[in-house]
Amino acid sequence: MAGIRGLGLPVVDPLPKVSGDSVEIWEVSPRDGLQAESRTLDVDTRVALIERLAAAGASVIEAGSFVRADRVPQMAGSDEVLRRVAHLPQRTPVLVPNVRGYDLARAAGADDIAVFLSATESFSQENLGASRERMEQHAAAVVTRAAEDGVRVRGYLSMVFADPWEGATPVADVVGLATRMRGWGVRELSLGDTIGVATPGQVRTVVRALTDAGIPVSDLALHMHDTYGMAAVNVYAGLDEGVRVFDAAAGGVGGCPFAKSATGNLSTDDLVWMLEGIGIRTGIDLDALVETSAWLAHELGKNPMSRVATALTR
Ligand code: MG
Repeated sequence: MAGIRGLGLPVVDPLPKVSGDSVEIWEVSPRDGLQAESRTLDVDTRVALIERLAAAGASVIEAGSFVRADRVPQMAGSDEVLRRVAHLPQRTPVLVPNVRGYDLARAAGADDIAVFLSATESFSQENLGASRERMEQHAAAVVTRAAEDGVRVRGYLSMVFADPWEGATPVADVVGLATRMRGWGVRELSLGDTIGVATPGQVRTVVRALTDAGIPVSDLALHMHDTYGMAAVNVYAGLDEGVRVFDAAAGGVGGCPFAKSATGNLSTDDLVWMLEGIGIRTGIDLDALVETSAWLAHELGKNPMSRVATALTR
């Protein structure tokens, strides 16, 4: 992109050490985004979403989740979704909560999965329905199977900065969980600000604590939520610390279930706008992405939540 669309602003990189770098965006709208939306989209629409995101240049697209359909009806039929996007060259990982989900995912052809754990006990009990210790046993069993099968695994850590019941999350708890996951063999770790409360200094603190514990920054991703409008600036702090993988959802879909806020996941549209504006390549065509975000919002019966999609589709 030769300048910012509509205004012709020049690309200016204020972080010289990242000049010319590229980043990897994990597009999470088909899984993390849709599972938090009240309207359930059918399989055809979810396949169309993944195909549109792929056409817009997304390289990693989280395709679904092998959780129980009675608990998360938005993800019903993830096996069919996965089979129908198998022809795409993109990575299409799926979330797997336990060995049963792992077997179902493998039967649908999955060779790229994610496990999900909470850094805090309260969120584990409230959202995942079991203690941290129990959930770690489930995840470790999945990771062991995945290692045997040569399946790639990403580890999600949620509530990394704070949770609504316990307040600030002790950094030592995050380092402990991350270290245990690495010990099972999980290489890629995504650090989730699940309620979107972090500010840039906290991002720096947690990233540095993890790299000080021996985890290479190249294995870390940031999963920011925009509840308080801080997601992009938190990404910026992460960039400055060397993080090059960021999670985002087209149109910002996926409301935050723990705050009365219209905004959930960092929107891919806003993220791409910022990154391209500071000279970092994303591989994503912003026009095609914004069209997809507007289409997705329509399918969900709402307006796009991202500022960029709102501005460009007005
Ligand atoms: Mg999220």
